[in-house]
Amino acid sequence: LTDKIAALPPDSNYFSLEFFPPKTQQGFSNLHARLSRMAQALRPLFVNVTWGAGGSTSAKSLALAELTQRSLGLTTCLHLTCTNMSRKLVDEALEQAKVLGVRNILALRGDPPRSEEYRDDSNPDAEEDDSNKDFTWAVDLVQYIRKQYGDYFCIGVAGYPEGHSDQSHPEHQSVEHDLPYLVEKTKAGADFIMTQLFYDVQEYQKYEKRLREHESGVFKTIPIIPGLMPVQSYQILRRTTKLSHASLPSELLKRFEAVKGDDEAVKRVGVDVLSEIVQTMKDMPRNGPRGFHFYTLNLEKVVTQILERSDLIPPSTPVILADGRNGQVEEAI
Ligand code: FAD
Repeated sequence: LTDKIAALPPDSNYFSLEFFPPKTQQGFSNLHARLSRMAQALRPLFVNVTWGAGGSTSAKSLALAELTQRSLGLTTCLHLTCTNMSRKLVDEALEQAKVLGVRNILALRGDPPRSEEYRDDSNPDAEEDDSNKDFTWAVDLVQYIRKQYGDYFCIGVAGYPEGHSDQSHPEHQSVEHDLPYLVEKTKAGADFIMTQLFYDVQEYQKYEKRLREHESGVFKTIPIIPGLMPVQSYQILRRTTKLSHASLPSELLKRFEAVKGDDEAVKRVGVDVLSEIVQTMKDMPRNGPRGFHFYTLNLEKVVTQILERSDLIPPSTPVILADGRNGQVEEAI
């Protein structure tokens, strides 16, 4: 993934899309069809597949990674958590990722399973399995992957522009508190940083500047990929910002509150807001290509509108057709 980023022109932009594994076979078929459409129409640089806390979605996450990496040929980044997970499960996940040709892992500590998105009720006992005392923090997983696999995997870690909603601590933690651990994770071998979602672009700007200028020097050139969540409804917006401790600037909140009873209008305002955020960030100082990571919640429409409006969709690769003409990939297919 970082090789793909490095190969882009320094003034270019790229994006990634995140998906979680559906619970049912029907959900999986629907997502398969949607992913095929999105892959062809949107051309993300890579896609992310989430991992259920405690390994609760392990089989389904790997099945989804197989679909994205192998069947659809999309560069895939598999999330992997390490707390409440047996070491055997970590080993199996990494081995399976390798078999599937997945070269990118987002190494996370993980929360106790509670958020809907990462939960899978078909394995209710997963959170009980605390047999693994090898991994306490994400840095332990980064070190482990490097020890077992050398440079085979490109490793990402999580960053928190507005502090951390660590559920094992009663209090919301600050950027200040988290930074030494981000330094530790990066020194242990992380190749890129992907951030928690945010809507306050000024807070993000401060965060990125702080990392780039950090005295350790470890963040000077590392890709920092900001996380953005398209707005699907007023309720989801309020819930996710609360859970992730992302602030909603009052000007934005007013715009959403003015239309909160009308779901379609909320989505339209959301597309406006996210497109404005992307534009502001495109204009920020940059250390190479500027990336954007979209938490899609497996939905297609709103993210497509944001990508179109923000001019983030790359042109399809020109190919030489059998008759010697220049064509686009879609035409050739
Ligand atoms: P860590 O880096 O280990 O940090 C956890 C907390 O402990 C932080 O507050 C940190 O400051 C503190 N800390 C770290 N090291 C130490 C230390 N040595 N001593 C004391 N304190 C320390 N969760 C899932 O279950 N599945 C997913 O697929 C998933 N995807 C995510 C994707 C992104 C981009 C992000 C930002 C989060 C994602 N999460 C996911 C949530 C993540 O698992 C939680 O936020 C988790 O609580 C922290 O994970 P971490 O990797 O940041 O942990």
